[in-house]
Amino acid sequence: MEIFNKITNKISEWNATQLEKKINTNRDKGTCPDCSGRGFFVMDAFLDPTCPSCNGTGSFSDWVETTQQQLE
Ligand SMILES: [Zn+2]
Repeated sequence: MEIFNKITNKISEWNATQLEKKINTNRDKGTCPDCSGRGFFVMDAFLDPTCPSCNGTGSFSDWVETTQQQLE
């Protein structure tokens, strides 16, 4: 189980780094990290495709507000 935990930690570390990179990139562009500023998801077109994180605006500041990010 020790090894399994180490692997899980590595994966979540990697995910956290990727997420941080994604947030920084989108912060520079001013776009929502979840939908890359599109405001909707193409894959969910048959459901409600509107991005819930930015309410379809695709704006970074709306994403921060909706997801309650604690950014400096
Ligand atoms: Zn969005």
